[in-house]
Amino acid sequence: MSQSFEVAIVGSGFGGLATALRLAELGRRVVLFETLAYPGGCASTFSHKDFSFETGATLFSGLGDGQLFQRWNQHYDLGLEFETLDPVVAMRTPGWQLAIPAQRQQLIERFLKPAGAPRQALLGFFAYQEKVADALWRVLDDPDLLPPFGFKSLCRHAARATAYWPILRSAGQPLSDVLKSFGLGDYAPLRTYLEALCQITVQCGVDEAEAPFALGTMDYYFRGTGHVRGGIGKLAWGLVEAIRSLGGEVRFLDRVKRVTALETAGFQVETRRGELKAEQVVANTLPQSLRRLVPDLPAELPWLESLESQVAGGWGACMLYRVIPCEPGATPHHVELIGDPQAPFLEGNHIFCSASAEGDGGVEPRQRTLTVSTHVDLGVMADMDDAAKAAYIETVQRRMDATLRSLAPKRFNEPLFAMTASPRTFERFTGRASGYVGGVPRRFGLDNYRSLIPPPVVPGLYLVGDSIFPGQSTLACALGGYKLAERLAS
Ligand SMILES: Cc1cc2nc3c(=O)[nH]c(=O)nc-3n(C[C@H](O)[C@H](O)[C@H](O)COP(=O)(O)OP(=O)(O)OC[C@H]3O[C@@H](n4cnc5c(N)ncnc54)[C@H](O)[C@@H]3O)c2cc1C
Repeated sequence: MSQSFEVAIVGSGFGGLATALRLAELGRRVVLFETLAYPGGCASTFSHKDFSFETGATLFSGLGDGQLFQRWNQHYDLGLEFETLDPVVAMRTPGWQLAIPAQRQQLIERFLKPAGAPRQALLGFFAYQEKVADALWRVLDDPDLLPPFGFKSLCRHAARATAYWPILRSAGQPLSDVLKSFGLGDYAPLRTYLEALCQITVQCGVDEAEAPFALGTMDYYFRGTGHVRGGIGKLAWGLVEAIRSLGGEVRFLDRVKRVTALETAGFQVETRRGELKAEQVVANTLPQSLRRLVPDLPAELPWLESLESQVAGGWGACMLYRVIPCEPGATPHHVELIGDPQAPFLEGNHIFCSASAEGDGGVEPRQRTLTVSTHVDLGVMADMDDAAKAAYIETVQRRMDATLRSLAPKRFNEPLFAMTASPRTFERFTGRASGYVGGVPRRFGLDNYRSLIPPPVVPGLYLVGDSIFPGQSTLACALGGYKLAERLAS
């Protein structure tokens, strides 16, 4: 007789891990399947030739006092070391640089410092931005305030209703309109800063970004953001241990091949290593993968189709992974480089480079690992044959290298070991269809607020991960999983 569980979860990305952990905390019998030998998906630490690299994500929020990852670290005694960095990120273009500090006031001062900076306009903009960010981050800091709402959380929202009013002023507008309203539409330093920030957070540029989301993510650097010593994989493994300590099962190297709805109730889950029954199933996958995983889905599922097309309006990623020399005692260091601020912040023109601490990643003393990423347009690649795709990826990787050579610290360009990855690599390792990695880009429009409580795909079958509210980033995926677990257990 096959085993049976209350909930089976497909995939150990941060959405799947958080769903499993919260369900186990709530006393549910849960099993989590992962096709790879390690957890974390796009936010994992993988090994290659004795080295270990960050797969994609390198800079993490939710690590501050009282925030989700910090609470789990303490509660389960995971022993993880979270470091705040100063600067959090060093941003550079050929003619400008900004050390992004961990304090809002210092950042404002850095923008005000140059002679001729539009002081009043900048102060007005940052004052408004702070109000929007305060309203939104309180919700991210406290999962109880996220939908679906209980009576208590509704009362708490009602009590702070006035804090949400500033959001109404810019809801449905692009961030560029807000900049214009403060007379900052063409102010190059702020525009460059925001183009780079929006691209990595809301996954689109200033002219497209939904203003309140973009203004909220401007606080990313000030709210418990930093580095996980030894790599984000340590946090992912810590969550696996926590799930197991509560009686949950986590099975690696066990891909879920097929999920079938049973006539009575629940699902049959067929994996590489066997079969079991589950009352409910959570897929930590893109909506694109679901029909292959659950072949019996109804032909028409408008919500799922709409989500697929939103994900298909997003991006893939190209990566460079390197081992480089460093000074003794070198600490983690993040650098964001823009070759040409007038050109699109994509395809190697805009790169995010993260160097580990000395010795992290299985390297020798006086060495560190480097993970470099850029966005690539999968829409452009859609009609290409394999040879054209390979040529396009090579061009992007060459441009990443050129941006590194022109703007990065010299040692970033003295690789002792180097390898690359492309959207195809992400598709192969994380199962993300066509290599889409950015979730749903938050392009402006009121539609962004309509999907706050994602429905089940069919009764008992749910999605979790960066295509589902609250969206992209390790913290957002974990919060989404946490809330989904509470919904399933209620
Ligand atoms: C290049 C890059 C840089 C990024 N930088 C940052 C950053 O600095 N900070 C940040 O917070 N976020 C960053 N992100 C975003 C963040 O990493 C993702 O939003 C988040 O990790 C996605 O998590 P997820 O829950 O959607 O699951 P995923 O990461 O997609 O993981 C899904 C997991 O499910 C497994 N799986 C899939 N199908 C099956 C199956 N059939 N059976 C079993 N297992 C299966 C996969 O192997 C995978 O492990 C970055 C992303 C990328 C790509």
